[in-house]
Amino acid sequence: MGHFYTAIKLLLGLCLLTACAGQPAQPDPIRVLLVTGGGWHDYQAQEPLLTEGLSARVPEIECTVVHEGNQQADHRVTIFEKEGWAADYDLIVHNTGFGLLTGGDFVERLVQQHKGTPAVLIHSAVHSYRRAKPSAEPWFRFSGVQSMWHEEERTFTVENVAPSDAIMKSFPLRWETPVTEELYVVEKLWGDITPLAQAYGVETEAFHPVVWKHDVNGTRVFATTLGHNVGMFEQDVYLDLLANGVRWAVNR
Ligand SMILES: [Zn+2]
Repeated sequence: MGHFYTAIKLLLGLCLLTACAGQPAQPDPIRVLLVTGGGWHDYQAQEPLLTEGLSARVPEIECTVVHEGNQQADHRVTIFEKEGWAADYDLIVHNTGFGLLTGGDFVERLVQQHKGTPAVLIHSAVHSYRRAKPSAEPWFRFSGVQSMWHEEERTFTVENVAPSDAIMKSFPLRWETPVTEELYVVEKLWGDITPLAQAYGVETEAFHPVVWKHDVNGTRVFATTLGHNVGMFEQDVYLDLLANGVRWAVNR
């Protein structure tokens, strides 16, 4: 009997000790690589707004930044040339303007090495590798769409077409962009994308997806063509959208 109570006491003691020592478990970090730089946009100003905006909303983020090729729209980001460059990260965020890059081999390798590591594509990232020769097909398949041009810069209304989706639940049903934006004309879908928001283009007289998600053979890709001006990166609605896209992409 004595042994029994001793055992119970020991057990209770152990439980108490564990409870006292047990700090709330730290969630695993989300290792993010932000690749940014390129032409047409103020990536210098966007970078801190983006990294701080995401970290404020997803505190687990540990961000590494590769910022190269400002105002060089054909720059080849050096890390993409390294074998296995994506393997050390949980997510790659692309905020780039490399729309004059034409190296098809470079783009094919970029996509090949990306497989297995989720992506978030912001605005001109969708346009970044579209001029690859002889074919930009690997990039179109990865991003989910083919877009070669955008309508003239203006404000427009973004319509939430998936309000019950976790990414879109905090996004207004209709949101007038508070700054001017470029509506990317989506000419073709390359894959089974799930459109999350759309906007009407007055020049093309058609709706175009401006936020979507899809799964490319097991690799999650979240994309938005919104994010031309620095002012967009100061909007809670926009940063919340990106943060939700990050969480979906890494399944957290
Ligand atoms: Zn732009």
